[in-house]
Amino acid sequence: MRKGAIIGCAAAILLFLFRHGLDPMPFLLVGGAFSALRFYMQGRGLERNFETIQAVQEKEAVPRVTFSDIGGQDGAKRELLEALDFLKEEAATKSLGIRPLKGILLTGPPGTGKTLMAKAAAFYTDAVFLASSGAEFIEMYAGVGAQRVRQLFSRARKMAEKAGKKTAIIFLDELEVMGGKRGKHTSHLEYDQTLNQLLVEMDGLKTDQTIRILVIAATNRADLLDEALLRPGRFDRQVRVDLPEKEGRLKILEIHSKNKPLSPEVDLFRIAQETIGFSGAHLEALMNEAAILAFRKGRQQIGAAEIEEAIDKVILGERLERRPPREEMDRVAVHETGHALISEVLRPSSVAALTVTSRGKALGFMRPVDKEERHLYPKKYLEDQIAICLGGAVAEEVFFGEKSTGSSNDFEQVARIGKEIIKSGLSEVGLVDPEFTPKEMLHEVFSGIINRQEAKVRRIIEENKDLIRKIASTLFSQEKLSGEEFRRMMAQGVSTAEGTNGEEQAAS
Ligand code: ATP
Repeated sequence: MRKGAIIGCAAAILLFLFRHGLDPMPFLLVGGAFSALRFYMQGRGLERNFETIQAVQEKEAVPRVTFSDIGGQDGAKRELLEALDFLKEEAATKSLGIRPLKGILLTGPPGTGKTLMAKAAAFYTDAVFLASSGAEFIEMYAGVGAQRVRQLFSRARKMAEKAGKKTAIIFLDELEVMGGKRGKHTSHLEYDQTLNQLLVEMDGLKTDQTIRILVIAATNRADLLDEALLRPGRFDRQVRVDLPEKEGRLKILEIHSKNKPLSPEVDLFRIAQETIGFSGAHLEALMNEAAILAFRKGRQQIGAAEIEEAIDKVILGERLERRPPREEMDRVAVHETGHALISEVLRPSSVAALTVTSRGKALGFMRPVDKEERHLYPKKYLEDQIAICLGGAVAEEVFFGEKSTGSSNDFEQVARIGKEIIKSGLSEVGLVDPEFTPKEMLHEVFSGIINRQEAKVRRIIEENKDLIRKIASTLFSQEKLSGEEFRRMMAQGVSTAEGTNGEEQAAS
């Protein structure tokens, strides 16, 4: 529309100049130069999609996302709702002299539903919703970011006016990009100006304004934020949005399978147990991948097999076409069986599945079951975890004479848990401050913890060599074993060194 009107006007002016015998050349030159400048600026990203993105958002001012579309996160939802009630109960808060809430900061890992929460907050408060990401404010040109912050706030006000709403919610994703500690960036003048402008805009938000603005920001790195953002009166409410626990995962799976036909054997509760560490985004992707697999197989319903395959795909990535050499695959099968055997011996029924399919990020994987969510870890639990991690490498050593680089991730975990045991005062030396303790002593305690577990694991593996060989070869040919299949094979004869005191073993 706008383009057509401009072209029409330009044509009319040229016609007018011709008719009156004037030379149109200077006008054409000025017009050409102006268009070239505009084209250049668009190319440099100065006007980038920023306006277009927001113009698209304006079409649907209040998002149709409710808090019931968000699975789990009960604590975060409760805290957020409490804060939002200040906006809804305007008269009551005013009469008590409560200053308006200006900013809420959602912190937590990626894909846990922070954006969903902000949208649901807009729906709950009947507010228009305008979203932007920290990266959109950062340009190499000083002043551009600050100008965009000003534009964002004024656009939110206009949008609310146009939609006839009293409240606008501005959602700022990746706040750490624009709100990092000042003076830390190489082009810090631009970063600092952008952040300063955000602070100025937030300080300017008052209760008596006709349109009330609430800024909801999200970050995965709250530790990087400038202190000024977190002081009272700005983002003074912080809501933690964590990875969902088992119950939360079940609810999220239910939400994302609502529009999908599941075959009766699919047990969402079991899937929730087997997807420790999955975020909401992972779970959504899992259900979607399972539906795609069912579609490819020409099925009318999504079965347990598609879901199992989809879990592996979400964890490890796409299947690779090339298969590693036989010797390598043998090693992977033994490695994964080693992990699984130790896991089952120390924590019965803890294996969800074993895979040796080459996928994007790994050659194999042992997936554990999350039977009970833990927040505190006793020493025995941590030691068992070390043993499970060592199971793969020790099995490789017993069967192939040496370990391989395939265990480096396991060793990172082992080192982290070992340090945690010492730091929490759970080692034999009790509570020590690593800063004032000789390095050699710490090293000795650390090695003691690991060696005791390694000795225990070696013993279990040595005693079950035949069983491991049998299971690994089935795993190799089938590529996958479910927890039940694994346990059935194990029941044919496992010998456990559990019950033997680890410290005694190390001493012997
Ligand atoms: P990031 O930090 O990467 O921006 P985020 O925390 O904002 O991520 P969202 O964008 O809200 O995550 O979530 C991505 C998608 O994952 C959602 O569109 C939704 O499909 C799914 N999802 C995430 N968390 C949940 C949840 N708690 N309930 C239902 N779906 C969820």
